[in-house]
Amino acid sequence: MPGHKVSGQTASGLSVDLRGQTALITGSTSGIGEALAKGLAANGANIILNGLGDHDEIEALRADIAKTYGVEVRYHSANMLKPDEIEDLVGYAKSEFGRLDILLNNAGIQHVAKIEDFPTEKWDAIIAINLTSAFHTIKHATPIMKAQGRGRIVNLASAHALVASPFKAAYVAAKHGILGLTKTVALELAEHGTTVNAICPGYVRTPLVDAQIGDTAKARGISEEAVVRDVMLSAQPTKKFVEYDQLVGALLYLVSESGASTNGTHLSVDGGWVAQ
Ligand code: NAD
Repeated sequence: MPGHKVSGQTASGLSVDLRGQTALITGSTSGIGEALAKGLAANGANIILNGLGDHDEIEALRADIAKTYGVEVRYHSANMLKPDEIEDLVGYAKSEFGRLDILLNNAGIQHVAKIEDFPTEKWDAIIAINLTSAFHTIKHATPIMKAQGRGRIVNLASAHALVASPFKAAYVAAKHGILGLTKTVALELAEHGTTVNAICPGYVRTPLVDAQIGDTAKARGISEEAVVRDVMLSAQPTKKFVEYDQLVGALLYLVSESGASTNGTHLSVDGGWVAQ
């Protein structure tokens, strides 16, 4: 599947000196989170991985990032549905590395269904993982960043934080919500050397996207090929999926010193989707 596998190298073409910094990335055992963790590691940051998955595969990923980029990499299994585990995750970053410089709220799930068929438990889980987990990580990271006098919080939102698509009620609501959280906390932390921003990607060919192709086909009554061509890529004027390295580039800007005045806003990386 093109773009599906996250490569060991990053080719964003940008570099920022993150040596000595600690980055915590929720949902970094797959897809965008894994790619962004590698992008930060490639620039010298020590990494806390988090996410679901097979124990041995996660350990192999952890060891591979550490070896490839020569940084320290830890893994914490906090479930983003569980506030106590999220608090423990943030505390783990501080206890392992003594600091937390970059918090990337990336964990997310999707469910595609008509509103009248939308399972209530899916609504609850999407709001909890895609929105409320970021409230918890930010709440616990804030005292650490305030004490440091510097921090970078980046929320992986979506083009669906800015515009809607049918059959994605919970996802669109959660992503719109995270933009509100981004702006609010940005105002609260602005005088503490900490910026809070969102990245709003268009479609990236990850396991999350592959998994929704079938459901979207069913909800719209069209073929899976038509979903890719007429629903996903038709939303993006470039007619191309967004590449991992393009998101790494946006993230590196936000966490750099050049990004110090970019606060409480979002970077769209969507091929022009929301310009329409
Ligand atoms: P993915 O399915 O490849 O990865 C999701 C990650 O979240 C995995 O590491 C998974 O283990 C983790 N996760 C899921 N539930 C969790 C839980 N309860 N606790 C802890 N971790 C959990 O998906 P992706 O496409 O890489 O999505 C990553 C983020 O990017 C999501 O927030 C998604 O909404 C957003 N996004 C994706 C796209 C896209 O086209 N793929 C576009 C815009 C935004």
